[in-house]
Amino acid sequence: MPPEKTFPDLRAMRRRLLQWYRQNRRDLPWRRTRDSYRIWISEVMLQQTRVAAVIPYYRRFVARFPTVLSLARAREPVLLRHWAGLGYYSRARNIHRAAKQIVALHNSCFPVGAEAALALPGVGRYTAAAVLSIADNLPLAALDGNVARVLARLQALHGDLRLPARWRELEASAQALLDRRAPGEWNQAMMELGAMVCTPLAPRCGECPLSADCRAFALDITDSVPEKRSKRAAVSVRIAAAVLLDSAGRTLLLRNVDGNARELFSNLWQFPAIKVRRNAREELRRHLEVLLRLSQPTLLPLTPVRHSVTYRDITLLPFLLRVERLPNRIAAKRSVQTGRAMLLRPLLAGVEDAPVSSATRKIAHAAAHGLSRV
Ligand code: SF4
Repeated sequence: MPPEKTFPDLRAMRRRLLQWYRQNRRDLPWRRTRDSYRIWISEVMLQQTRVAAVIPYYRRFVARFPTVLSLARAREPVLLRHWAGLGYYSRARNIHRAAKQIVALHNSCFPVGAEAALALPGVGRYTAAAVLSIADNLPLAALDGNVARVLARLQALHGDLRLPARWRELEASAQALLDRRAPGEWNQAMMELGAMVCTPLAPRCGECPLSADCRAFALDITDSVPEKRSKRAAVSVRIAAAVLLDSAGRTLLLRNVDGNARELFSNLWQFPAIKVRRNAREELRRHLEVLLRLSQPTLLPLTPVRHSVTYRDITLLPFLLRVERLPNRIAAKRSVQTGRAMLLRPLLAGVEDAPVSSATRKIAHAAAHGLSRV
């Protein structure tokens, strides 16, 4: 249904929402700029990550890489180090590739046009619309989960919002509702409403500037719209990891080693590790014998750590392994010949500084804690 029919007083509705936004918007660092590069970085960081968690990362990141050019010229390990802790490292790799593309093809400026923006690695319809509307006032509606929920409630839409046909309908209604005189502000107002008022649970309809236009509110069905998505059942995974420590206090991290559960460490630097089925110590010992050519390593169990990644419920089982000298060869069979090794000292500070995932940090902390008690 065209939005003019669903919302007869569209102009008044737009005015109310924008007025509410101007009075209530949070003061966030990326809202103080119209620089498309900075807005792009913030939008990528905000995917799957809470605002409060993003703020310090965003500040450090744009201080270290203030321009597209500085990002494009950065070495990947340096970039990943500044991303470490945010998770979903494919986002960081994509912005790196996209920055290089922007330098090569767009004179180091984020392209002003949806088609060129969508050709960049990792830039989808939402990101392109958000960046181009906020930075360049292009009339493109940005549809994310928050906005989709608001739209579904305004129109009392039932069913799974993520079904492709339903999502396309939502994109169309978001575009029709967009205030073309202030598209960037409008998009941010819709997102802010979804984040702060029209929340997934217990929306605060009494404070909502759109309550007079909202069908779900009128029908008293805000609890059941949108429909809850059925959650994928959690999968339990156990990972045993070895923290090697030589007589000089150095440890060993590996990268690009097949059979080392590396996908669970975001393909970053990690301790030697393996998914285990039954006997963690025994299976890890055999893994190290093959991978590092160690002979009957003595593994000391440390405190297990819980770690969750999307639907995976991971138990990390760290083991301490003291060695005279760290192994200098990691290739044991063809499938592991691409591996590289990094030696760090001291253990904890070294790992904190390295481009590693939060799972590796947790293992390092468990080891440091264990060592402090020995
Ligand atoms: Fe959401 Fe309630 Fe506002 Fe409707 S009235 S848009 S359900 S907060």
